[in-house]
Amino acid sequence: MNFDGKIVLVTGGARGIGAAIVKQFLENGAKVMIADASPDGEQAAKQWQNQGKEAVYVQCDVSREAEVNHAVSVAEQQFGRLDIVVNNAGIFPRADLLQTDETFWDRVMDINLKGVYLMCRAAVPLMIRQGGGCIVNIGSLHSTVGGEELFAYAISKGGVVTLTRNLARALAKHGIRVNCVHPGWVASHGERALMKANGEEDNWPEQHASKMPFGRLQTEDDIAAAILFVCSAHAGQITGQMLTVDGGLGFNLS
Ligand code: NAD
Repeated sequence: MNFDGKIVLVTGGARGIGAAIVKQFLENGAKVMIADASPDGEQAAKQWQNQGKEAVYVQCDVSREAEVNHAVSVAEQQFGRLDIVVNNAGIFPRADLLQTDETFWDRVMDINLKGVYLMCRAAVPLMIRQGGGCIVNIGSLHSTVGGEELFAYAISKGGVVTLTRNLARALAKHGIRVNCVHPGWVASHGERALMKANGEEDNWPEQHASKMPFGRLQTEDDIAAAILFVCSAHAGQITGQMLTVDGGLGFNLS
């Protein structure tokens, strides 16, 4: 897949699945903005620059409108356009209904759902002016099958599905495609930290592998590869779709 000259913004691109998305776009010719709340993004961008890749870090908490608008304005000032936005930043703290107080609910919604809305609202006018673009939102299997211990999370990702369909319909006339990729289970930076905090052994991914239809969890690169496909010219007629990359895990959940 060729993304030569394309300008890509990845939220949450400092670590985990986002870092793999950044890597694959850079390896396929794109110029990438890492928009992340964590300063780790700066270090990541520097490492890519040392390898001759065009990666830029912009401090951006997606739940803050001013920071989201700033990230898009940096893309416009620095590159003059923004071809692809991947709304990947997200948090997945565990809590059921009764453990979910208002502050917890608001935090999950602010990052996972409001953050996607804010970034779309900031980026779409630029995409309309330039005559098209592509947005990929990262959902979750839990958006459709729920998740008792992931109450607010599952609902936030359900909102991302509706947002995706709504915008795909509204923006097609501007040449903007909007899709959603649902990862299955990835032992990402954030998931490992969470499992460790929950007292799981370091080898939990191997322990759980037998529950996976293909005998392993998904990797960050599995998810990133699907995202690159959805953003590529090969997917030019694909919009408003949910692409699940779960190695068949969803069959066990539904
Ligand atoms: P991760 O915790 O490893 O990485 C998340 C990245 O997002 C980090 O770089 C973090 O700094 C950044 N981030 C967090 N809050 C932010 C904010 N407010 N603004 C900007 N950046 C922020 O997580 P991950 O596992 O790579 O998850 C990435 C996405 O994939 C999330 O949307 C998550 O819900 C989704 N997902 C993950 C899994 C999984 O199994 N890991 C499964 C389904 C969906």
